[in-house]
Amino acid sequence: MSEQTGPLPVVAVVGRPNVGKSTLVNRVLGRRAAVVQDTPGVTRDRIAYEALWNGKRFTVVDTGGWDPRASGLGASITRQAQYAMDTADVIVFVVDSQVGATDTDLAAARILRRSDRPVIPVANKVDDERSEANASELWSLGLGEPQPVSALHGRGSGDLLDLILDALPEAPREQEDEEGGPRRVALVGRPNVGKSSLLNRVARDERSVVDSVAGTTVDPVDSIVTLGGEEWRFVDTAGLRRKVNTASGMEYYASLRTEAAIQAAEVAVVLLAADEVVSEQDQRVITQVVEAGRALVIAFNKWDTLDEDRRLQLEREIERDLARVRWASRVNVSAKTGRGVDKLAQHLREALASWETRVPTAELNAYVRTLVQETPPPARGGRAPKVKYVTQADVRPPRFVVFSTGFLEAGYRRFLERKIRERWGFHGTPIEISVKVRE
Ligand code: GDP
Ligand code: GDP
Repeated sequence: MSEQTGPLPVVAVVGRPNVGKSTLVNRVLGRRAAVVQDTPGVTRDRIAYEALWNGKRFTVVDTGGWDPRASGLGASITRQAQYAMDTADVIVFVVDSQVGATDTDLAAARILRRSDRPVIPVANKVDDERSEANASELWSLGLGEPQPVSALHGRGSGDLLDLILDALPEAPREQEDEEGGPRRVALVGRPNVGKSSLLNRVARDERSVVDSVAGTTVDPVDSIVTLGGEEWRFVDTAGLRRKVNTASGMEYYASLRTEAAIQAAEVAVVLLAADEVVSEQDQRVITQVVEAGRALVIAFNKWDTLDEDRRLQLEREIERDLARVRWASRVNVSAKTGRGVDKLAQHLREALASWETRVPTAELNAYVRTLVQETPPPARGGRAPKVKYVTQADVRPPRFVVFSTGFLEAGYRRFLERKIRERWGFHGTPIEISVKVRE
C-alpha cells in the first residue's frame, strides 16, 4: 500500500434525483466519510468526499444537488453530466432499474457517450436476483454493460468498487484540461428556422461523421465540417440529419436535445428566421445559451427572402427584441443560396476568442477605479458602498468578482458590465459580474 500524495483522482456520481446517488455514495464511503471542502471545481451544490478502497484513495463527488440556475430537470441533468465530463476521472452514472431508462436518462447518456473518461452505468435498486433482468434493459443507454447494484442493501457494491478502481488512472487529470481537436459548435433554434438546411449546406465538405461508441447502432452524434478553412465539430446533429417528427409530446424531448447540444458545445449558433418576428420560443433558446454561459452567434437565416422594407423592419425588431443580447455576434445567412455561410466561421472565432479573454488584474482595477471615481455606486440607507477591488475569476465565459463594502444594485452591476464591454469588447460572449461584500 503506497502513500498517495497530491490531488486524488475524482469519481463523479451523476443521475436523476431519487435514483439513489446519495445512498450509493454513503455505501462507497462506509463510515469514514469526510467532507472535502477545497476540491477545485466543487461548488456549494456538489459535495466531495474522500474514499478509501483496497488501499487506494480517491475523491467521490456527489453531483446530486440542484443547480439553482438550471431551468428544469433536463437542464440540470445535462449540466451535471457536462460538469462530470469536465472534471472527473471516472463517471458513475446511476439509473433506477425499477423505473427503467427515462427520457432524461437517455438525454444524459447521450452526453456521456461523448466522454473521453470511463463511464460506468449503474443499475441501482437491483435488490434481489429476480430484478437482475431490469438491469439488462439498461443496455439501451448505449454505455456498455450496466452494473447491477443495490445501494440500499449493499448487493453488488464490492464489484462496483473494483470496477471503479480498475478505471481510475494512475494520476488524476489536470485541471482545465484543454481537449484539443475541433471547436465544438451547437446549431440550435426552433423548428423550421432552417437548421437542417444549414447543416447540409456547411456539411458539403464533410470529412467524416463521428460516433463515439463503436459498434452500436445509435445515430452518429456529431459532424465534423470544414468552414472558413478550419474544421469544426457540430455537436449532436443526429436529430438534424434524420428528422424526428415534432408532434406534441416531442417538444420536451426537443428541448432536452437543445440543452444537451448547448452543454456539449463551446459556442452556440442560434438560428432565427429573418422573415418572421423573433418569437418567445426563439427567446427561450437564446436564454438557454446565455444561462449555460456559452459563446453566442445569432444567425438570421432565409436572408434571400428579404426585400428592402422587411430589412428595415427587421432592424427595428432586433433593436426591440434582442437588446438584452446586443453583445452577441450577428450574421445574416441563407442556407438556400449559401450567402454569408462562409462568414460564419469568422463569427464563431470572434465569439470564442471573447469567451476566452482574460483581462490582467492591474489593468482591470485601474480602469474600474477611474469609473467608480467618476460614477460612484448610489448610496443606500445613507451609506454608499465602496468598491475595493475587482478580479476576473474565470474565463469561458469571463466572470468578474467585485469586492465592495456593500451590496451593489443590479443597475450598477449593469453599468459596470456596459463599461467593461466598452473597453474590452467581449463581443459574442456573456459575461458575469458578481459582488462579494467585504467590510
Ligand atoms: P438521490 O436523489 O439520487 O441521491 O437518491 P437517494 O440516495 O436519496 O435515494 C432515493 C430513494 O431511493 C431513497 O428512498 C432510498 O432509500 C432509495 N434507494 C436508494 N438505493 C436503493 C436501492 O438499492 N434499493 C431500493 N429499493 N431503494 C433504494
Ligand atoms: P429546421 O426545422 O430548423 O431543421 O428547418 P429546415 O432546414 O427543415 O427548413 C425549414 C424550411 O425552411 C424548409 O422548407 C427549407 O427549405 C426552408 N429554408 C431553410 N433555409 C432557407 C433559406 O435560407 N431560404 C429560404 N427561402 N428557405 C429556407
